[in-house]
Amino acid sequence: MSYKFNRGCWVESWEETRLRAALHENDEVRGASARGNCTNGSPETPMLSIEDKIQMARVLYVQWGRALLEDTGIRGLLQRLERDMGFSHEIMHLLWIDSACARCDAAAPEGSCCSRGLENKYDVVLLLLNLLMGVSLDRGRSREDSCFFLGPQGCRLRVRSLLCIEYLCPELEEAPGWEGLLRIQGATGGELETSFLLCDAVKKRIASV
Ligand code: SF4
Repeated sequence: MSYKFNRGCWVESWEETRLRAALHENDEVRGASARGNCTNGSPETPMLSIEDKIQMARVLYVQWGRALLEDTGIRGLLQRLERDMGFSHEIMHLLWIDSACARCDAAAPEGSCCSRGLENKYDVVLLLLNLLMGVSLDRGRSREDSCFFLGPQGCRLRVRSLLCIEYLCPELEEAPGWEGLLRIQGATGGELETSFLLCDAVKKRIASV
């Protein structure tokens, strides 16, 4: 499998380890620390499919959704992320980045940069955050050669990985000019920072019990 902007490396995430332990799949996993890994080498443990991760996120949502949404700190961060994402989208729209991506996706035979396999960059907590923000993860892959989350109207997720937020293809990097790039960085920087803070807060809240 080839990725357009994926280096093929992954890290077994905290939540996968913890949730497996919680689900009693393997008692030895309980308390294990997260491990680094790389799909180019020999993974120590098999990488979870995106369907498995979605299922795990749903289990966490059922168990923790209400408590997380009632947590004042997490609620505040969710509201802040909503504002930050709105600002990012506004800048992308003003600089025609969103329409350029849509045009490319419709015209290029291989679709946009949202290639198949990029969904593997998503861990369970990021998917859980999407559920907390009202995203339905019920739909399957729309295009065989594209990311699992790419729908007819673009990305179906709201909370996205650093890779998805930061990446611009070489053409789009040139189009907005230096000033435009600074505006994009300023806008996406806020979204990224708040997503990190939110992930951290959710992990700590779940780990605190
Ligand atoms: S998660 Fe969304 S933005 Fe990222 S590659 Fe998939 S469809 Fe594209």
